[in-house]
Amino acid sequence: MNKKENVVVLGGGIGGLAAGYFLARTGKYAVTVLEKAPVIGGLCASFEQNGFTLDYGAHKLYSVIPGVLDEITGLMGDRLLTVPKQNRLYLRGHLVDYPLKLGNIAKVLGPVIFLKLGFGYGIELLKGFFDKSEPGSYEEYIIRRFGRPTYELVFEPLADKVWGDPATLHPEMARTRVPASGGLEVALKLLGLKKETAETNAEFFYYPRAGFGDFPQAMVEEIEKHGGQILTDVDVTGFKLAPEGLRVEAVEAEIDGNKQSFSSDYVVSSIPLPLVGKLVFGGEDATFKQAAQGLQFRHLILVYVFVKRDLVLEDQWVFFPERELVFSRIFEQKQMNPELGPEGHTAITADFTTTEDSDLWGASDDELAQQVIDGLVKAGFISADEVEGQFVIRRRNFYPRYDLAYAEKIQTVSDKLQQVENLLTTGRIGMYNYNNSDHCTDMGHFIAEHLAAGEETKTIWQKLEQRVANYKIVD
Ligand SMILES: Cc1cc2nc3c(=O)[nH]c(=O)nc-3n(C[C@H](O)[C@H](O)[C@H](O)COP(=O)(O)OP(=O)(O)OC[C@H]3O[C@@H](n4cnc5c(N)ncnc54)[C@H](O)[C@@H]3O)c2cc1C
Repeated sequence: MNKKENVVVLGGGIGGLAAGYFLARTGKYAVTVLEKAPVIGGLCASFEQNGFTLDYGAHKLYSVIPGVLDEITGLMGDRLLTVPKQNRLYLRGHLVDYPLKLGNIAKVLGPVIFLKLGFGYGIELLKGFFDKSEPGSYEEYIIRRFGRPTYELVFEPLADKVWGDPATLHPEMARTRVPASGGLEVALKLLGLKKETAETNAEFFYYPRAGFGDFPQAMVEEIEKHGGQILTDVDVTGFKLAPEGLRVEAVEAEIDGNKQSFSSDYVVSSIPLPLVGKLVFGGEDATFKQAAQGLQFRHLILVYVFVKRDLVLEDQWVFFPERELVFSRIFEQKQMNPELGPEGHTAITADFTTTEDSDLWGASDDELAQQVIDGLVKAGFISADEVEGQFVIRRRNFYPRYDLAYAEKIQTVSDKLQQVENLLTTGRIGMYNYNNSDHCTDMGHFIAEHLAAGEETKTIWQKLEQRVANYKIVD
């Protein structure tokens, strides 16, 4: 039997684990996953607190990439629940359907606003007959599809909360994130005359009965079944490069303060791209450094609030575009599966993003939790005396932010890294791609299939880039 080649996978989030799982499954590779944290799963993990199993915000399993849902259901089997999707948008004190429907907006916001939104859309539809140019920013993209009044009412404040000033955001951010096609189709959908399709809006999704973290856990079990190993509490600190060519001979890491080396025929990385560049080039390549440092990220804040009530929402999650409330979404864990928390009590998770230098990031956990609780009370979801506890989780640099020049920067970074003969990257931060766990699954599958077929890493990387550019986030 041929000796297996060593693949060292950096990062044990769903991106790294999916690559590890599909590679191990080919039978050709001895897979070692190195994870810095004490637990696997990254942002797709679950954890226990106050008698609840909690996720890192609202996570659903769904995909429109051919074959991916089959892979996931095949892996998870009866560990999955099928959940009918229910989510809305909180606007001027009302809950309205999302994706938006003008009829619904008319009912809750009144005829004047309805006419204003419809008129704004009509103007853009007319302009579209004469102006066929590509939109230059997120703002232009949305205005052309929905009209300025709808943009200002919903999209602008929500995008500002999640990514910062939408006028300085690349249109790609809208293309991947906003469920809408063009012209007449948008009008018909807004008027409720045409239904959203599974391509833009899922009617149901899957959810692991034991919490979202059971999805990465199932991958861990499969990797181990195929002879692979997963090591936690491992900080990847360096690459040993081969004397000839640009090739990673071994990955160096610190475990309990001791240095350890993992020999590598291939390295698949899901850790931040700028860090990988530093491991390869040691900060010496000025062009790389400048491009990598220019890649923008947003920090993630999650505030968990425990409430003495069986359930608070009717939806799994609710979006909050308006600026008065600090959070952009709230999520109720027990809506996924009531067994994930004790009877008579519930947990609401509010998520929002920000930057290192913002007042929000500088605020204490107590201040952040208070802002969320005040918001939930003001919006009428809970009363202050129902709150039984709260805590805050922060994650730096989790949301890739596509500014107007991001495409050139990411091209410079990936062109440089593609010179490494045996390196591939995957995942959200690893690919600098705004993606979900189904996309991470697809990337892992793609990498394993093409590597096992004997393709060069540079070719795989380039094909993967093209594939990833077409990913869509389905609401
Ligand atoms: C609020 C919220 C809602 C979401 N909703 C959904 C949803 O509905 N459906 C869905 O499918 N997805 C959803 N996502 C996206 C999903 O969480 C991501 O796509 C996924 O977690 C990305 O996985 P990853 O492995 O790329 O990154 P991560 O989960 O960040 O994993 C990277 C791992 O690398 C490790 N690492 C970093 N540096 C090192 C180092 N030096 N050495 C070793 N290890 C290192 C980290 O500790 C981490 O575990 C959501 C995300 C958020 C935050």
